[in-house]
Amino acid sequence: MAHRPSSTVGLLAVSKLHGPERVRALYAAGQRAFGENYVQEGVQKRAALADLPDVVWHLIGPLQSNKTRAAAEHFDWVQSIDRLSIAERLSRQRPDHLPSLNVCVQVNVSGEASKAGVAPHEAVALVEQVRALPRLALRGLMTLPAPNVEPEALRAQFDQVAALFSEVRRVHPDWTDWDTLSMGMSDDLELAVPAGSTLVRVGTALFGARPKRIA
Ligand SMILES: *Cc1c(COP(=O)(O)O)cnc(C)c1O
Repeated sequence: MAHRPSSTVGLLAVSKLHGPERVRALYAAGQRAFGENYVQEGVQKRAALADLPDVVWHLIGPLQSNKTRAAAEHFDWVQSIDRLSIAERLSRQRPDHLPSLNVCVQVNVSGEASKAGVAPHEAVALVEQVRALPRLALRGLMTLPAPNVEPEALRAQFDQVAALFSEVRRVHPDWTDWDTLSMGMSDDLELAVPAGSTLVRVGTALFGARPKRIA
């Protein structure tokens, strides 16, 4: 059982579908890391908040290849890497004047065909390949469990990703920036944190219910 001090768990405020003024208010309260699901929405929000100097923007939604350039240019992190081709594009398209793009490999532990993420047995191989790309800084793993599963199943899914995270750390003790296990949202963070999460992604519990997406 991991009983880590809560100070080691970071908070990513998931601001998708909320306007820039909501981000600004949370920023004023001290929050710096914000998560967006949709590239274009994130790009627009960042531009609207360009006067805030030290916001860190994370892309946490699925990324299509026609959006990688905008993601590489306008985000600080991409947590949703689930295949090598997307990672290669991001590395190639990351502008020279920016630091390496922080990335996580997204693991699909629930096995739903519809959902993004690499299967657990393929995760380590993808991690090795992504790590070798020059303009990416591979920081760890992200997972998004299946909705509406019982707490026991949820705990098992978090434990499985935590075990993968630890395995990579054991095999590569020299990867000093392998430090991020992104798991846990509003409804399940109290299970994700004891399982070893270092970063919870919280939307609803911070901002309230989201407005509907206008497609
Ligand atoms: C929307 C979203 C969240 C936040 O979910 P809440 O239940 O509102 O806390 C976290 N992670 C991902 C990948 C999301 O898409």
